[in-house]
Amino acid sequence: MRRKIVAGNWKMNTTVPEGLKLVEDIVAKLEDVPADVQLIINTPFTHLYPVAESLNGIKCPVCRGKIALGAENCADKEKGAYTGEVSAAMLASIKGVEYVILGHSERREYYGETNALLLEKARLALANGLKVIYCCGEALEDRKAGKHFDVVAEEIKSVLFELTPEQMKNVIVAYEPIWAIGTGETATKEQAQEIHAFIRKTLAEKFGELAEETSILYGGSCKPSNAKELFAQKDIDGGLIGGASLKADDFIAIAKSY
Ligand code: PEP
Repeated sequence: MRRKIVAGNWKMNTTVPEGLKLVEDIVAKLEDVPADVQLIINTPFTHLYPVAESLNGIKCPVCRGKIALGAENCADKEKGAYTGEVSAAMLASIKGVEYVILGHSERREYYGETNALLLEKARLALANGLKVIYCCGEALEDRKAGKHFDVVAEEIKSVLFELTPEQMKNVIVAYEPIWAIGTGETATKEQAQEIHAFIRKTLAEKFGELAEETSILYGGSCKPSNAKELFAQKDIDGGLIGGASLKADDFIAIAKSY
Protein backbone atom coordinates (compact mmCIF):
# COMPACT_ATOMS: atom_id res chain seq x y z
CA MET A 1 0.00 0.00 0.00
CA ARG A 2 1.36 3.39 -0.99
CA ARG A 3 1.61 5.91 1.80
CA LYS A 4 -0.42 9.09 1.79
CA ILE A 5 1.98 11.93 2.43
CA VAL A 6 1.61 15.65 3.02
CA ALA A 7 5.05 17.26 3.09
CA GLY A 8 5.81 20.90 3.80
CA ASN A 9 8.72 22.73 2.18
CA TRP A 10 9.44 25.81 4.26
CA LYS A 11 12.16 27.07 1.88
CA MET A 12 14.06 30.10 3.29
CA ASN A 13 11.24 31.21 5.56
CA THR A 14 10.91 31.74 9.32
CA THR A 15 13.52 32.49 11.94
CA VAL A 16 14.24 29.66 14.37
CA PRO A 17 11.78 30.96 17.02
CA GLU A 18 9.11 31.45 14.34
CA GLY A 19 9.74 27.95 13.03
CA LEU A 20 9.44 26.46 16.50
CA LYS A 21 6.15 28.29 17.00
CA LEU A 22 4.87 26.92 13.69
CA VAL A 23 5.82 23.39 14.73
CA GLU A 24 4.08 23.91 18.06
CA ASP A 25 0.92 25.00 16.23
CA ILE A 26 1.07 22.01 13.88
CA VAL A 27 1.69 19.57 16.73
CA ALA A 28 -1.29 20.99 18.63
CA LYS A 29 -3.53 19.87 15.75
CA LEU A 30 -1.99 16.47 15.05
CA GLU A 31 -5.01 14.67 16.45
CA ASP A 32 -7.01 16.03 13.50
CA VAL A 33 -4.67 14.40 10.97
CA PRO A 34 -6.03 11.08 9.66
CA ALA A 35 -4.10 8.08 10.99
CA ASP A 36 -3.03 6.98 7.49
CA VAL A 37 -1.53 10.33 6.49
CA GLN A 38 2.17 10.95 7.09
CA LEU A 39 3.12 14.59 7.61
CA ILE A 40 6.69 15.60 6.83
CA ILE A 41 8.05 19.06 7.53
CA ASN A 42 11.18 20.07 5.66
CA THR A 43 12.91 23.01 7.28
CA PRO A 44 16.05 25.11 6.78
CA PHE A 45 19.24 23.53 8.16
CA THR A 46 19.36 25.97 11.09
CA HIS A 47 15.99 24.73 12.33
CA LEU A 48 16.56 21.00 12.17
CA TYR A 49 18.10 20.36 15.56
CA PRO A 50 15.65 22.39 17.66
CA VAL A 51 12.67 21.21 15.62
CA ALA A 52 13.81 17.58 16.02
CA GLU A 53 14.10 18.12 19.78
CA SER A 54 10.62 19.59 19.83
CA LEU A 55 9.13 16.68 17.84
CA ASN A 56 11.04 14.09 19.88
CA GLY A 57 9.38 15.58 22.95
CA ILE A 58 5.86 14.66 21.76
CA LYS A 59 4.48 12.38 24.45
CA CYS A 60 1.79 10.54 22.48
CA PRO A 61 3.44 7.84 20.27
CA VAL A 62 0.55 7.90 17.78
CA CYS A 63 0.90 11.65 17.27
CA ARG A 64 4.70 11.39 17.07
CA GLY A 65 4.29 8.80 14.31
CA LYS A 66 2.19 11.19 12.27
CA ILE A 67 4.94 13.77 11.81
CA ALA A 68 8.45 13.42 10.42
CA LEU A 69 11.24 15.86 9.73
CA GLY A 70 13.47 16.51 6.76
CA ALA A 71 15.95 18.94 5.23
CA GLU A 72 15.60 20.87 1.98
CA ASN A 73 18.97 19.95 0.49
CA CYS A 74 22.29 18.22 1.19
CA ALA A 75 25.80 18.31 -0.21
CA ASP A 76 26.99 16.24 -3.16
CA LYS A 77 30.24 15.45 -1.32
CA GLU A 78 30.80 13.21 1.65
CA LYS A 79 32.87 15.62 3.78
CA GLY A 80 35.83 17.94 3.71
CA ALA A 81 36.75 21.40 2.49
CA TYR A 82 33.40 22.51 1.09
CA THR A 83 32.71 25.72 2.99
CA GLY A 84 29.04 26.31 3.67
CA GLU A 85 27.87 22.84 2.68
CA VAL A 86 25.93 20.41 4.89
CA SER A 87 26.51 16.71 4.35
CA ALA A 88 23.99 13.90 4.36
CA ALA A 89 25.87 12.35 7.31
CA MET A 90 25.47 15.58 9.30
CA LEU A 91 21.73 15.56 8.66
CA ALA A 92 21.40 11.89 9.55
CA SER A 93 23.29 12.50 12.80
CA ILE A 94 20.34 14.53 14.13
CA LYS A 95 17.93 12.11 15.78
CA GLY A 96 14.59 12.71 14.13
CA VAL A 97 15.82 13.87 10.71
CA GLU A 98 14.63 11.25 8.23
CA TYR A 99 14.13 12.96 4.87
CA VAL A 100 15.80 15.31 2.43
CA ILE A 101 14.28 17.11 -0.54
CA LEU A 102 16.48 16.90 -3.64
CA GLY A 103 16.07 18.37 -7.09
CA HIS A 104 13.63 21.14 -6.23
CA SER A 105 13.24 23.39 -9.27
CA GLU A 106 14.54 26.37 -7.27
CA ARG A 107 17.81 24.49 -6.67
CA ARG A 108 17.98 23.42 -10.31
CA GLU A 109 17.24 26.93 -11.59
CA TYR A 110 19.01 29.27 -9.14
CA TYR A 111 21.94 27.05 -8.12
CA GLY A 112 22.50 25.20 -11.37
CA GLU A 113 21.90 21.74 -9.93
CA THR A 114 22.07 19.16 -12.70
CA ASN A 115 20.73 15.64 -12.85
CA ALA A 116 24.31 14.31 -12.52
CA LEU A 117 24.86 16.31 -9.33
CA LEU A 118 21.49 15.24 -7.96
CA LEU A 119 22.40 11.61 -8.49
CA GLU A 120 25.49 12.13 -6.30
CA LYS A 121 23.36 13.79 -3.64
CA ALA A 122 20.74 11.06 -3.78
CA ARG A 123 23.36 8.32 -3.43
CA LEU A 124 24.92 10.00 -0.41
CA ALA A 125 21.57 10.72 1.22
CA LEU A 126 20.44 7.11 0.80
CA ALA A 127 23.81 5.70 1.90
CA ASN A 128 23.41 7.68 5.11
CA GLY A 129 19.95 6.28 5.78
CA LEU A 130 17.95 9.33 4.72
CA LYS A 131 14.83 9.03 2.59
CA VAL A 132 14.77 11.22 -0.50
CA ILE A 133 11.91 13.37 -1.77
CA TYR A 134 12.98 13.75 -5.39
CA CYS A 135 11.41 16.62 -7.32
CA CYS A 136 10.81 16.79 -11.05
CA GLY A 137 8.66 19.00 -13.24
CA GLU A 138 8.61 21.06 -16.39
CA ALA A 139 8.76 24.80 -17.11
CA LEU A 140 5.85 26.59 -18.75
CA GLU A 141 7.55 26.73 -22.16
CA ASP A 142 8.10 22.95 -22.03
CA ARG A 143 4.43 22.37 -21.33
CA LYS A 144 3.34 24.80 -24.05
CA ALA A 145 5.62 23.00 -26.48
CA GLY A 146 4.20 19.63 -25.42
CA LYS A 147 7.60 18.57 -24.06
CA HIS A 148 6.56 18.02 -20.44
CA PHE A 149 6.62 14.23 -20.67
CA ASP A 150 10.14 14.29 -22.14
CA VAL A 151 11.47 16.68 -19.50
CA VAL A 152 10.03 14.67 -16.63
CA ALA A 153 11.16 11.35 -18.13
CA GLU A 154 14.72 12.67 -18.43
CA GLU A 155 14.74 13.89 -14.80
CA ILE A 156 13.48 10.50 -13.65
CA LYS A 157 15.69 8.34 -15.86
CA SER A 158 18.98 10.15 -15.39
CA VAL A 159 18.72 10.08 -11.60
CA LEU A 160 16.29 7.47 -10.29
CA PHE A 161 17.07 4.84 -12.93
CA GLU A 162 20.65 4.83 -11.61
CA LEU A 163 19.45 3.66 -8.18
CA THR A 164 18.96 0.07 -7.08
CA PRO A 165 15.46 -1.20 -6.22
CA GLU A 166 16.54 -1.28 -2.54
CA GLN A 167 17.48 2.40 -2.73
CA MET A 168 14.32 3.24 -4.65
CA LYS A 169 12.21 1.93 -1.77
CA ASN A 170 13.39 5.00 0.16
CA VAL A 171 12.47 7.51 -2.52
CA ILE A 172 9.31 9.59 -2.78
CA VAL A 173 8.77 11.40 -6.08
CA ALA A 174 7.30 14.90 -6.14
CA TYR A 175 5.94 16.18 -9.45
CA GLU A 176 6.06 19.96 -9.36
CA PRO A 177 5.29 21.86 -12.56
CA ILE A 178 7.49 24.96 -12.29
CA TRP A 179 4.72 27.18 -13.64
CA ALA A 180 2.53 26.25 -10.66
CA ILE A 181 5.09 26.77 -7.88
CA GLY A 182 4.29 29.83 -5.79
CA THR A 183 2.23 31.30 -8.64
CA GLY A 184 -1.26 30.52 -7.38
CA GLU A 185 -1.79 28.58 -10.60
CA THR A 186 -2.39 24.86 -10.08
CA ALA A 187 -2.31 22.00 -12.54
CA THR A 188 -5.84 20.75 -13.12
CA LYS A 189 -6.61 17.39 -11.56
CA GLU A 190 -6.63 15.89 -15.06
CA GLN A 191 -3.22 17.37 -15.96
CA ALA A 192 -1.77 16.22 -12.65
CA GLN A 193 -3.23 12.70 -12.86
CA GLU A 194 -2.03 12.31 -16.46
CA ILE A 195 1.59 13.06 -15.62
CA HIS A 196 1.55 11.17 -12.31
CA ALA A 197 0.37 8.08 -14.21
CA PHE A 198 3.15 8.70 -16.73
CA ILE A 199 5.75 8.94 -13.92
CA ARG A 200 4.51 5.68 -12.43
CA LYS A 201 4.60 3.98 -15.84
CA THR A 202 8.14 5.29 -16.40
CA LEU A 203 9.26 4.03 -12.97
CA ALA A 204 7.74 0.63 -13.77
CA GLU A 205 9.99 0.31 -16.85
CA LYS A 206 12.95 0.06 -14.50
CA PHE A 207 11.51 -1.00 -11.16
CA GLY A 208 8.48 -3.12 -12.11
CA GLU A 209 5.99 -3.64 -9.27
CA LEU A 210 7.89 -1.26 -6.99
CA ALA A 211 6.42 1.61 -9.02
CA GLU A 212 3.04 0.74 -7.53
CA GLU A 213 4.48 1.18 -4.03
CA THR A 214 6.19 4.50 -4.76
CA SER A 215 4.45 7.58 -3.42
CA ILE A 216 4.17 10.34 -6.02
CA LEU A 217 3.27 13.75 -4.60
CA TYR A 218 1.86 16.75 -6.41
CA GLY A 219 3.37 20.18 -5.70
CA GLY A 220 2.48 23.60 -7.02
CA SER A 221 0.09 25.99 -5.27
CA CYS A 222 -1.64 23.13 -3.47
CA LYS A 223 -3.94 24.58 -0.82
CA PRO A 224 -6.96 23.61 1.29
CA SER A 225 -9.35 24.59 -1.51
CA ASN A 226 -7.83 22.32 -4.18
CA ALA A 227 -6.13 19.53 -2.22
CA LYS A 228 -9.17 17.27 -2.05
CA GLU A 229 -9.73 16.98 -5.80
CA LEU A 230 -6.02 16.51 -6.46
CA PHE A 231 -5.59 13.86 -3.76
CA ALA A 232 -8.65 11.99 -5.07
CA GLN A 233 -6.74 11.11 -8.26
CA LYS A 234 -5.61 7.52 -8.60
CA ASP A 235 -1.89 8.25 -8.96
CA ILE A 236 -1.60 11.24 -6.63
CA ASP A 237 -0.44 10.11 -3.21
CA GLY A 238 -0.34 13.47 -1.47
CA GLY A 239 1.36 16.81 -1.83
CA LEU A 240 4.56 18.76 -1.44
CA ILE A 241 3.36 22.06 -0.08
CA GLY A 242 5.28 25.34 -0.14
CA GLY A 243 3.44 28.52 0.86
CA ALA A 244 0.51 26.80 2.55
CA SER A 245 2.83 24.77 4.80
CA LEU A 246 3.80 27.98 6.59
CA LYS A 247 0.34 28.27 8.12
CA ALA A 248 -0.49 25.51 10.58
CA ASP A 249 -4.23 25.71 9.86
CA ASP A 250 -3.75 25.41 6.09
CA PHE A 251 -1.20 22.62 6.38
CA ILE A 252 -3.48 20.59 8.63
CA ALA A 253 -6.52 21.37 6.46
CA ILE A 254 -4.62 19.98 3.45
CA ALA A 255 -3.74 16.83 5.43
CA LYS A 256 -7.42 16.44 6.32
CA SER A 257 -8.37 16.62 2.64
CA TYR A 258 -7.88 12.89 2.23
C1 PEP B 1 7.22 23.99 -3.61
O1 PEP B 1 8.02 24.89 -3.83
O2 PEP B 1 7.63 22.85 -3.32
C2 PEP B 1 5.80 24.31 -3.70
C3 PEP B 1 4.98 23.36 -3.99
O3 PEP B 1 5.46 25.62 -3.49
P1 PEP B 1 3.97 26.25 -3.46
O4 PEP B 1 3.08 25.27 -2.75
O5 PEP B 1 4.13 27.54 -2.71
O6 PEP B 1 3.57 26.43 -4.88
